[in-house]
Amino acid sequence: MAGISRDASWRRRATASFRLKPEATGMVTGAADSSEEVPESSETDAWLPASAGRMPPDAVPAVVETESIPVQFIRTAQGLAAIRSALGDCTRCKLHTQGRKQIVFGVGNPAADIMFVGEAPGADEDTQGIPFVGRAGQLLTKMIEAMGLARDEVYIANVLKCRPPGNRDPQPDEVETCEPFLFQQVASVQPKVVIALGAFAARTLLKTQDPISRLRGRVYDYRGAQLIPTFHPSFLLRSPGYKREAWEDLKKALALLGRQPPSAPAAAAQE
Ligand code: URA
Repeated sequence: MAGISRDASWRRRATASFRLKPEATGMVTGAADSSEEVPESSETDAWLPASAGRMPPDAVPAVVETESIPVQFIRTAQGLAAIRSALGDCTRCKLHTQGRKQIVFGVGNPAADIMFVGEAPGADEDTQGIPFVGRAGQLLTKMIEAMGLARDEVYIANVLKCRPPGNRDPQPDEVETCEPFLFQQVASVQPKVVIALGAFAARTLLKTQDPISRLRGRVYDYRGAQLIPTFHPSFLLRSPGYKREAWEDLKKALALLGRQPPSAPAAAAQE
């Protein structure tokens, strides 16, 4: 199949350095290719509606953070398990008193080349303990499959690990408390590409208040990976006219990995 190999060799990749470097800079490394056309009859059709207008890209300020993870835990399930263990039955912020059922840590390939980062668990995720399993998650799965990937080939996490009550926006103190665990997940998985799903994730990761319409369309350096902001699947469910632009973002992510979307429609994306 096209896309990332199912060969187990990704499991063996490890970094050479013991300590992770403070590589996150938020600097822009590439600009959007606005000339690319989406084929009318392609793998995109299943989840893409008519096109929407493109939006102007912009730069964001820098962010530098550090953390260290022993090299033997990098890109391994054990590395993620150690972070999950450190998180414990977290009571660090007020969300543990506000109705969360469980912590929703993350799911997927511990050595994924692509990591998707959303905002926070919703009701379905809170119930199942798995990110992106509700309606938005089903769309995300289709997007992943349209890229020629399986859900278990990528890694999926959220900025917040607990559901905010009533799906309200995450609050700054909650982000500040929870974010280090996301940083550690990124440091362990070491994705080549991070796809920030929606304004909240993009702003949080890039430390900016710019709207998603300004952030998307460019590629940013982020903690040793390249970060692509795109629209949140929940937004795409409400505003399907933006799916075409999201598809451009996903294709850009594949291009950064030297890959192309499959030429034939992905089965799951045709529904
Ligand atoms: N929205 C998110 O941002 N994350 C989820 O896990 C589900 C919905």
